[in-house]
This record gives sequence, C-alpha cells and structure tokens, in this order.
Amino acid sequence: MATVEGQVSQQAPDAAEAPNGKPEAAAGIAVENPATGEIVATVPDLGAEKVVELAVRGRAAQPEWEAYGFEGRARVMRRAQKWLMDNAGRVIETIVSETGKTHEDAEFAEIGYAGNAFGFWAKEGPAYLADEKVKSSQVLVKGKKLVLRYQPLGLIGVIGPWNYPLTNSFGDCIPALMAGNSVILKPSEITPLTSLLMAEGLRECGLPENVLQIATGRGATGAALVEQVDMIMFTGSTATGMKVAETAARRLIPASLELGGKDPMLVLSDADLERAANFATYYSMQNAGQTCISIERVYVEEPVYDEFVAKVSEKVSALRVGKPDGFGSVEVGAITFPPQMETIKDHVADAVQKGARVLTGGHQLPGAGRFFEPTVLVDVDHSMKIMTDETFGPTLPIMKVRDADEAVRLANDSPYGLGASVFSRDAARGEAIARRLQAGAANVNDAMINYTVLELPMGGAKASGLGSRHGAGGIRKYCSQQAIVVTKLAMKKELFMYPYKNRTSRMLAGLFKLLYGRGKRP
Ligand code: NAD
Repeated sequence: MATVEGQVSQQAPDAAEAPNGKPEAAAGIAVENPATGEIVATVPDLGAEKVVELAVRGRAAQPEWEAYGFEGRARVMRRAQKWLMDNAGRVIETIVSETGKTHEDAEFAEIGYAGNAFGFWAKEGPAYLADEKVKSSQVLVKGKKLVLRYQPLGLIGVIGPWNYPLTNSFGDCIPALMAGNSVILKPSEITPLTSLLMAEGLRECGLPENVLQIATGRGATGAALVEQVDMIMFTGSTATGMKVAETAARRLIPASLELGGKDPMLVLSDADLERAANFATYYSMQNAGQTCISIERVYVEEPVYDEFVAKVSEKVSALRVGKPDGFGSVEVGAITFPPQMETIKDHVADAVQKGARVLTGGHQLPGAGRFFEPTVLVDVDHSMKIMTDETFGPTLPIMKVRDADEAVRLANDSPYGLGASVFSRDAARGEAIARRLQAGAANVNDAMINYTVLELPMGGAKASGLGSRHGAGGIRKYCSQQAIVVTKLAMKKELFMYPYKNRTSRMLAGLFKLLYGRGKRP
C-alpha cells in the first residue's frame, strides 16, 4: 500500500484532525481500486484549520499569477497540454486505479477532454476576457470612454465528484486559473489521486507554488473550503449542491453548481433505429452509466418500440463487463462508489417489484471487484425509481409511448433538467422537439456530445444546477465585472448640476421629451 506524501506540501496529514488520538495514518483516507478491492494509496483528510492555511497561501500567490498576464498563463497551459499528452499513460493508469473505469473511458472522456480544454482556454480565455469597448445610447455620456473589464475574483474553490476525476474535478480549474485566479481543488475523497498527479504536472510546467492547491478530504473539507473562497465551482449531487448554495448565499459569494441528472432519450418512429440503438447502448453504459449526462431513460414511439428494444437488448447483452486490463479488454468497468451499487440494486428491485421485466443483466457480479451487469428493463413507468431518480449505473429502462407529445411530457416530468436527446430522420422535427425539452442541452440524433463543445455552455436546468461551464460564461464567472467610464474632454461642470435653474431644467426636460417622447404611442 503506497502512501501519497509530499506531492504538495499541504498534504502532510493533519494530526489535529486525528480522531481519538489515533496515529496520523488513521486520519487519512484510503483510496480503493473498485475493480479489485485493493487499497492503492492513502491521502490526508484535511481539517478546517488546514483549509484556512491553504487559503492564506493561495491568496498570497494570486497577484504574481495574475501579473503573468494572459500570455504567461497561456504558456503554462500549453505546456500542461503537452505534459498531459506525454504522460497520458500514467494519468490513465491513475484514473483507472481509483475509479475502476475502462481505459477507453479514461482516454476518450478524460484525457481527450482535458487535452482539448488546456488549448481551448489558453486560446479563447484572453478573447472572452478582453476589455470590451461599449457604445451607449445615453446622451449624457457622449464623448466618454466606456469599458467593460473582467478582473479575476481572487481565490476560487473547486469541489468535484468521483465519476470523472480529470474532466469534472480538475477540468474546471483550467478556466479559473487562466482567468488569473489561484485555485484550491477539493477532489472527491473516493478519487483524489488524479488531482494530485495533475497538480504535480502543472508545477513541472511552471505553475507558481500555491496557485493550485489540492485539499484532500471528505465532505467537511469541502464545507470548510466554501467558507474561505471568493467563488465556489461545485460539481456533485443536487443534495450537496443545495448545502453549498446555502453557505454561498450566507457569505454572498457566487456559486456555480453542476448537479445530478436523469437524462431522457426520445426515439421517434422515423428514427434511424440502428443509430438510435447504438447511441442508447453506448451512452447508457459508457463509464458504467456513471455520467451526469448519461442516457438514464428512453421513450420510444409505439410503431418502432419492439424493433428498437430487440436491437438494444442484443447489443447490451454482448457487452463485456469486468476488471479493465488495457484498451480493448472490457466495455463496462466497475461501480466506483460503494453506496452507488446499493442505489442501482434498489432501483432495479423496485422496478421489478412494480412489474418491470429485465431483458438482460440485472445483477451484481460476484467477486472482489464491484461490477453490475449491463441491464435493460422494459414495462417500466414513472411509478418506478428507475424512471424518476438518478440511478448512475449501467441500466437502461425503455418505455413505450403513444406519440412524441407523450414522450415530451414524460421527459419533462422530472425535477432534473441536465441533458436530453431526440432521434428522428427529420432533423427539423427533431430540433423542434428538442426545443420543447426542459434541459440545459438537447442533442438531435446524438447524445452527450455537447459536453465536448467547449464553445457552448454546459449547465443544468431545474434541479440539475445553476450557471454553466464552457463558453464565454464558463470563464467570465471566475471574474468580477468592472465598468469603467473615462471623461477625457472635461468641462468645469455638467449642465444638470447645481444651482438648479428654471431655464436649464426646462431645456433638459425638453431634450428628454425630444429623445424619448416623439411620435404616437405604439
Ligand atoms: P456528492 O455531492 O456526494 O459529492 C461531491 C463533492 O462534494 C465531493 O468532493 C464531496 O466530498 C463534497 N462534499 C460533500 N459534502 C459536502 C459539503 N457539505 N460541502 C461541500 N462539499 C461537500 O456527489 P458525488 O457522489 O461525488 O458525485 C455524483 C453526483 O455528481 C451525481 O449526482 C452526478 O450526476 C453529479 N455530477 C454532475 C455533473 C455535472 O456536470 N452536472 C458532472 C459529474 C457528476
């Protein structure tokens, strides 16, 4: 068992946090490989006092980092992009060791994402945050220089989940850093190793000391972090997101919340069924279904229901599940978070008890690793948790609907609103239906792909979140806006100033009337 030590100075175990005077190691967090059950490392569980220390160091380091300017910061990000590609094998092994996901899931959805993100923010960050010269219709400021300016907020807290330790935890640090902030990242206690490795990589690439710090720990460490920072970027469950939002509201700091989902897929009767079945299979089972925007439920128009179900069942039953052993070894990896297995089993059992049929899968695999069979269910309805609650596992419930209107109604019958997808050969009809879905993103004849488009905002509607990542808003949220008004040609005083004179005031009133009151009332 390896103990992760000394990768960043703040990781020294916090002796004060040790419960009941147990030795330091007991205060640490053991990181398990979910595919084998082995403990692969331990990391410190930082207490609130340690978080305060990190915050002090982060704030002290920020001005120098801001002074690097866009060019200096972009250089570090581009070096980091190259570092990631040079060290992809090592990063993938780290991700796989703490999540149990397949090497492909780590390569495509994590390395591919972060590789792109480093370059994207290095290039687009300066454009999104450039000073904007503003023109105004306000006559009183004619001739003045008007500028909208973005300033880094200072110290950003990023809290991440366990399902994508690189993309969802570390990924949000990239724009925050590029904007000129220092960052404290609190990765999930289940998967802290990737963040530690990335911090090491960034230091190698010239990121100044303490600009990015990793606060390993559990929920209490995350809660302590929200108390210290100038803005919090949170990704995780809706329940925790609400707690984070409460603290942020009390402290009057901005919070960006990326939360849970229950993404629907709509298959219309004119869909390319082969494509729809491939997408349903892949995007429900990819990452063993542990993706916030995975397809969690499908609604199929009656005329094509039987054929679609037959295709999906055949494809899902052909998937290999088990311990990942390099590219091409298995399609479906482990269930990363131990309690998630209980949720998955509970949702399947609840559905079966209420009349659902399992066409393939349905059980946990025996053995040391934590695996659940890729599962297809039919005869499902909205009385079942598997159609209403986030399952976050390799399950695909498919429901027959009368028509597209019923599909839209059921798709929107959810507290969540993260992503959605519609399949139809008539792209215009598909788009019209996509526009009726209450979701932060809707893909037509595709799924999940919007996440890779860094130019588009990615965020949730309803209980799936507040704010978004990516696009201009995805970096501006790490800044405050400053409005600058510069008067160059200045008279001694303006016309509207004291002393008030009847004649001048009437003249100005006449001017307003001329400007805003001409013509007939529309
Ligand atoms: P979680 O809410 O249990 O934990 C997320 C993080 O919050 C962890 O680092 C945890 O230690 C920390 N935390 C726990 N209590 C806290 C508190 N009181 N204050 C501050 N931080 C606290 O979520 P999870 O189980 O790690 O992740 C799975 C969830 O994340 C799913 O619901 C999934 O849909 C969601 N998710 C959403 C997105 C998105 O972009 N919308 C992406 C990935 C995952």
